[in-house]
Amino acid sequence: MSRPGAYDAIIIGSGPNGLAAAIALARAGRRVLVCEAEQTIGGGARSAELTLPGFTHDVCSAAHPLAAGSPFLRSLPLDQYGLEFIYPPVSLAHPFDDGTAALLERSVAATGETLGVDGMAYRRLMKPLVADWALLAPALLGPPRLPRHPLALARFGLKALRSARGLAASRFAGERARGFFAGLAAHSFLPLERLATAAFGLVLGITGHAVGWPVARGGSQSIANALAAYLRSLGGEIVTGRRVASIDDLPSARAILCDVTPRQLLRLAGHRLPPNYRRRLERYRYGPAAYKVDWALNEPVPWKAEGCSRAGIVHLGGTLAEISAAESAPWKGEQADKPFVLVAQPSLFDPTRAPAGKHTLWAYCHVPHGSTFDMTERIEKQIERFAPGFRDCVLARGVMPPAALERHNANLVGGDINGGAQDLRQLFARPTRRLYSTPARGLYLCSSSTPPGGGVHGMCGYFAARAVLQDGL
Ligand SMILES: Cc1cc2nc3c(=O)[nH]c(=O)nc-3n(C[C@H](O)[C@H](O)[C@H](O)COP(=O)(O)OP(=O)(O)OC[C@H]3O[C@@H](n4cnc5c(N)ncnc54)[C@H](O)[C@@H]3O)c2cc1C
Repeated sequence: MSRPGAYDAIIIGSGPNGLAAAIALARAGRRVLVCEAEQTIGGGARSAELTLPGFTHDVCSAAHPLAAGSPFLRSLPLDQYGLEFIYPPVSLAHPFDDGTAALLERSVAATGETLGVDGMAYRRLMKPLVADWALLAPALLGPPRLPRHPLALARFGLKALRSARGLAASRFAGERARGFFAGLAAHSFLPLERLATAAFGLVLGITGHAVGWPVARGGSQSIANALAAYLRSLGGEIVTGRRVASIDDLPSARAILCDVTPRQLLRLAGHRLPPNYRRRLERYRYGPAAYKVDWALNEPVPWKAEGCSRAGIVHLGGTLAEISAAESAPWKGEQADKPFVLVAQPSLFDPTRAPAGKHTLWAYCHVPHGSTFDMTERIEKQIERFAPGFRDCVLARGVMPPAALERHNANLVGGDINGGAQDLRQLFARPTRRLYSTPARGLYLCSSSTPPGGGVHGMCGYFAARAVLQDGL
């Protein structure tokens, strides 16, 4: 790292996007260095013993439809570098108070069968979109541009641009399908009445059928480790424990790619950026936060509804009305009484996560940006509602409110896990219309604050690297 001029490109941050950018550049013959602030690589794809020895928890990401469906990550030989995806038989369970659950299965028809009166309506909505996934994925997991398959994109776009509530209410007659779709769309972190929130529900639903929602054997850290090992095999270098305070502190390189959010870019490189671009970055909006809890369990969660124990992810919120209220609250600065809780139970499918017979559980809900309110009790109450006796299974818990998340990873500004709000405006101009490039030659953004946004898919990094290569650097 002390050899000036030794690198063509330096990447600040070793999240999935930073590593993807480094790999794309190394594959193009560039000499790359990744500088990571923390002692462990991986950003939002790290795992750690957050509760008791022998219990491995995913600190951030847990379910990986976007990694498994990512056109770039799929093109890499990550299985040769230790990555194995495990596919739970059911991607998602959505239990209701009557003790039953809607299930996202690989088959659209089987999923429809769990949706009561709306089985046929679900099939009509999803079947054509699932069939189009191979054409849609490159467009949806990339920057806005002229579509290669305009018909497929139009079929998707007409539905996707609607609000999740609007689409669910017009397509489905019963509470089961409406609640199920609301849970999928709630991954947007947006009020479900906002335009284009249907897109999140549709994409996650489609990936459930077309790709599956796998977990990574050994923990999400295995994704970062495989990316890093492959990068090193290409000659790339990674240093950890190296928090970059200013790009002026880096050795010279033709390109610097920042796997950080706009607020951090201003600190790192504000002095190199013109005032109007700086102002645009200052106006970039962050969204609500995650409040996360991990548990070490003595036994699996005693779900009431059949099917929940076969699912990698469980959505707790019941009806569209309840989930919609829970998702609007953080935007009003309020804590939901009954938060919408996203639960992951990887140890049911990956025995490496916990000692024999024991289990790990991961959950978070959405709270206002920077909130300091303790949501642990409300989260556990939601689990207990659908799994009476849950608390008796708990051996230990680890709690990460927004501030703890930000301490773990500086990109989680105020606890926002997506690198900024993902509303319509910031989906297309993310973080500005320049997307990956900046007005300073050789300086780029490659984080989830660029298209296509949050998630472990590496596509932001891949497209940032392409911008570097297109600029001839
Ligand atoms: C609680 C939680 C749950 C999630 N669940 C899922 C999920 O189930 N599935 C999914 O696909 N996604 C999930 N995500 C989102 C996913 O983790 C992120 O969208 C993804 O990691 C973004 O990748 P990135 O490379 O852009 O940034 P990050 O992964 O955030 O990486 C940024 C890296 O840059 C480093 N860095 C920052 N500043 C500096 C500096 N000055 N110098 C050096 N290094 C620096 C950080 O330490 C970090 O390692 C979740 C996130 C959280 C927090």
